[in-house]
Amino acid sequence: MTVGNPLWSDGLAALSPYVPGEQPKIDGLVKLNTNENPFGPSPQVIEAIRAVADDRLRLYPDPSSLALRECLAAYHGVRAEQVFVGNGSDEVLGFLFRALFQRGRPVVFPDITYSFYPVYCRLFDIESKIVPLDDELGVDVEALCEIDPASVAGVILPNPNAPTGRLLAIDQVERLAAHFGDCALVIDEAYVDFGGESAVGLVDSYPNLLVTQTLSKSRSLAGLRVGFAIGDSGLIEALARVKDSFNSYPVDRLASAGAIAAYADEAYFRKTRDAVVTMREQLTADLEARGFTVLPSAANFVLARHASRAGAELAAGLRERRVIVRHFDKPRIGDHLRITIGDESQNAALLAALDELQVGG
Ligand code: PMP
Repeated sequence: MTVGNPLWSDGLAALSPYVPGEQPKIDGLVKLNTNENPFGPSPQVIEAIRAVADDRLRLYPDPSSLALRECLAAYHGVRAEQVFVGNGSDEVLGFLFRALFQRGRPVVFPDITYSFYPVYCRLFDIESKIVPLDDELGVDVEALCEIDPASVAGVILPNPNAPTGRLLAIDQVERLAAHFGDCALVIDEAYVDFGGESAVGLVDSYPNLLVTQTLSKSRSLAGLRVGFAIGDSGLIEALARVKDSFNSYPVDRLASAGAIAAYADEAYFRKTRDAVVTMREQLTADLEARGFTVLPSAANFVLARHASRAGAELAAGLRERRVIVRHFDKPRIGDHLRITIGDESQNAALLAALDELQVGG
């Protein structure tokens, strides 16, 4: 445990901060470790950012990000009061843990899921109740529905889940929304565009349902830091109260302009998203041909396990060959690799490195 410093506030040394995937400073690495999009953003996004990079930067942006919220509302068929935007969906998630889950009861999430959730729990002093994934690493809806909703503060799940990539069908999401009617159900849809059906269509029927999404993955804008939540205006107001008690202007002028432009270029979005999905299916087949079992993925990454070679050893061997993938030294997935779908040459470099490591068939 970190020893800390006598000047630190209480409990800080005991936190275990989230460890993001490595962002190496070395040129020429094949970077398949943080689920970034292999394609750049739409050229219209770059143009829109350039168009606002002027004297107006001396002015604060709109604290309520109304133009961006209206754009997202129109795109998703909801009202602007049902949309909250933040500095990446990580910030939106952080705000919602404080706004919805800090209520003296545990928040429920799976054993294998986005590793930021337990970090927010410790930061905001929220207990967690872990419901393990089933044997196929799918969300165990039966086990979740056995929980008394009055005994918990809420439930959070990524869909597709991370790092498994597995999708929960929308009727199962609805079943959870109905079961947990008296507490918040948060569906973290960071990867939904790569193969899932969004739960946004359910928010008008379930005032306890909050859906989060990000522009970091399917819109190729991880560097711009924009994420959002859609739900009942009562939940959105809760998020705005936390935001306005922390930072009034999380979305800057450049980010707002770029994000709006991203939604204006639907053709580019579809083209790049479809290309990632095609390459995911190809990579899955290529990995299977080399002795891997690959979980069915609805995301822009796959979780794969080799029949005979340990995950840590393979990750290290790939790194020596300048290919970085993510390995989690954790129970149940310690022998898996999470591999982001790259472009054709990156995927080919990964396969060539695996062939050098003689993973075989
Ligand atoms: N949710 C999940 C499940 C993720 O994997 C990520 C990316 N690390 C995020 C949310 C956060 O993405 P961002 O902050 O870039 O919007």
